[in-house]
Amino acid sequence: MNRVLITGAAGFLGSHLCDRFIKEGMHVIAMDNLITGDLKNIEHLTKHKDFEFILHDICKFIDVPGNIDYILHFASPASPIDYLKIPIQTLKVSSLGTHNVLGFAKVKKARVLVASTSEVYGDPHVHPQPEEYWGHVNTVGPRGCYDEAKRFMEALTMAYHNTHNIETRIIRIFNTYGPRMRLNDGRVLPAFIGQALRGEDLTMFGDGSQTRSFCYVDDLVEGIYRLLMSDYHLPVNIGNPEEISIKDFGEEILKLTGAKQKLISKPLPKDDPKQRQPDITLAKKLLGWEPKVKRAEGLKITFDYFKGLSKDDLNRTEHRQFA
Ligand code: UDP
Repeated sequence: MNRVLITGAAGFLGSHLCDRFIKEGMHVIAMDNLITGDLKNIEHLTKHKDFEFILHDICKFIDVPGNIDYILHFASPASPIDYLKIPIQTLKVSSLGTHNVLGFAKVKKARVLVASTSEVYGDPHVHPQPEEYWGHVNTVGPRGCYDEAKRFMEALTMAYHNTHNIETRIIRIFNTYGPRMRLNDGRVLPAFIGQALRGEDLTMFGDGSQTRSFCYVDDLVEGIYRLLMSDYHLPVNIGNPEEISIKDFGEEILKLTGAKQKLISKPLPKDDPKQRQPDITLAKKLLGWEPKVKRAEGLKITFDYFKGLSKDDLNRTEHRQFA
């Protein structure tokens, strides 16, 4: 039986990966330090005979007995609010943490896939963004701690691939949504849905003309799986190219939730990318992958998930770790 280590396993994406690899019949070792992750996301797996959880900060030496075939490195804060609150942890996990993950992969002769991001393109001057684009990043701005850490992670991964000949995969993830997103992590989708459910106006930053392209989590997970099983070691974009302005997105959420409130404008955060859309030509060609879930369908599933949360969860404005 193949054994897979997933870092950041109690997070939004990590927990969906745990589900997928259990379904694939693998033994899943889930690792998280729970800074931004939540055990609730994986509690349904804890009784499964092929699932184990290890509470560990990967910035410290990683040691797991037995063979490991695959490693999925998904540990990192991943929202602008987190970057502002815990910038040093954000930098450490993708630099020191990645170093430990790659060293561990070398010892175990495991194939490792690292989760990079569209943020490596910064506030892009090329649209849509193909993998060859080098990006436009402000190293000392509020997003610098995330963007630069992920860029360093890619460089370190390539160095381990070239120097130690380990099997590496690099995915660049674009905005992804779905059940188990943290309701109050500041990201636009949980922010809008939370506000709609609490009866508050929806806070649109700036004039809402900035764009994003939202990918449903199941589509992303399928892309990750295919990339892991491929033999391609350079970065691959995975995301849904269907682009929408934040204003139109807000209107969609109001319609979906039936909320009677309105969109109100708040100041645009510094260095907020004006547009973002993945060029997925490579993923299509290499992996035969493209997203299948339409936004209307994915948003409905996600809204139903948020509706099912307790009043306490809904009203919590700060993540418990930072409260
Ligand atoms: N945004 C917004 N209102 C909010 C939260 C976010 O208008 O309450 C905007 C934000 O300025 C950005 C977009 O929505 O332009 C996506 O933000 P998010 O934090 O979800 O992701 P990222 O900027 O990292 O793509």
